[in-house]
Amino acid sequence: MYDVAVIGLGCAGYTAAIYLARYKLETLIVGETEGGMGITAAEVGNWPGNIDIKGPDLMENFKKHATSFENVTQKTLRVEKVEKSGKGFKLTYQNGESDEAKTIVFATGSDKRHLGVPGEDEFSGKGVTYCATCDAFFYKGKDVAVLGGGDSAVEGAAIAAQVAKKVYLIHRRSEFRAEPYWVDEVNSKDNVEFVLETNVVEILGDKTVTGVKLDKEFNGSDQIAVDGVFIEIGAVPSTALAEALGCELDDRKHIKVGEDMATSVKGVFAAGDVSSGSNHFAQFATAAGEGSVAGNSVFNYLQAGA
Ligand code: NAP
Repeated sequence: MYDVAVIGLGCAGYTAAIYLARYKLETLIVGETEGGMGITAAEVGNWPGNIDIKGPDLMENFKKHATSFENVTQKTLRVEKVEKSGKGFKLTYQNGESDEAKTIVFATGSDKRHLGVPGEDEFSGKGVTYCATCDAFFYKGKDVAVLGGGDSAVEGAAIAAQVAKKVYLIHRRSEFRAEPYWVDEVNSKDNVEFVLETNVVEILGDKTVTGVKLDKEFNGSDQIAVDGVFIEIGAVPSTALAEALGCELDDRKHIKVGEDMATSVKGVFAAGDVSSGSNHFAQFATAAGEGSVAGNSVFNYLQAGA
């Protein structure tokens, strides 16, 4: 039986594993996708100590660090179920195998939010994607639309503008909630056009995407012809495993945690984008901070012999 199972291979999970390893706890870290949401950041300009590093490189560093400890075991598997078992917990994987641990840290992050309009599912992977920074390079010399007004959308539009012929940044409000850094970046590109106070109501296509339909006219038409649509309208916390175990959620559907990152279930902690911590400010720095606190809390919990 492991002392702790950390579920999630992102920034919060790897940070928790680094702290747990140094507390000399037998640590399992398991998840489906190495690097989590962090690998989608084309440029990370706010990770202290690195003026500029790419998300995939930063996450590779996290993984190397966490797995450099002999008492950390990484498994790249989808966890299907977490249940109480004796004095601890049992994790069951998609391949039917299982492990047991005395404590759990949920660092399961979040999944991209879907828009829910006609054409979205039909053209998913055929011009519709949920990561502009990952997929923009397939649209060299083409016209694309980026939807949303947060960091993901505005950063995505700035990155897409480096390769695409034209980028339409379509946002439902008149102002962006993204960092002014990214707004300045996108403002400096002469091939980005803002389509503000506008919603996309349908994604149009034949075999692949051919355009978007808007809820109001833009340049005399309620349609814009594009080859790709990047939907960057935020994320939904991945709480299914924690909910099934009985962890309470907050009103924004994140796992409710205290200052010590403890959830409502004894022996279960949460950290990173999935938790209610850090004022819901989802960043590399806050995920790492929460991961370290969760690591310390697991140590204290086990020391107390709970
Ligand atoms: P976000 O901050 O939640 O922003 C989502 C955007 O999508 C908002 O502008 C929102 O509009 C819009 N939106 C939400 N639902 C919509 C709908 N149904 N239809 C149309 N528009 C909709 O999400 P995010 O940009 O993915 O960022 C998530 C977190 O990751 C944030 O904490 C962000 O700072 C962080 N992040 C950081 C970086 C970086 O530092 N490099 C990069 C990416 C993301 P409203 O404005 O009207 O609410």
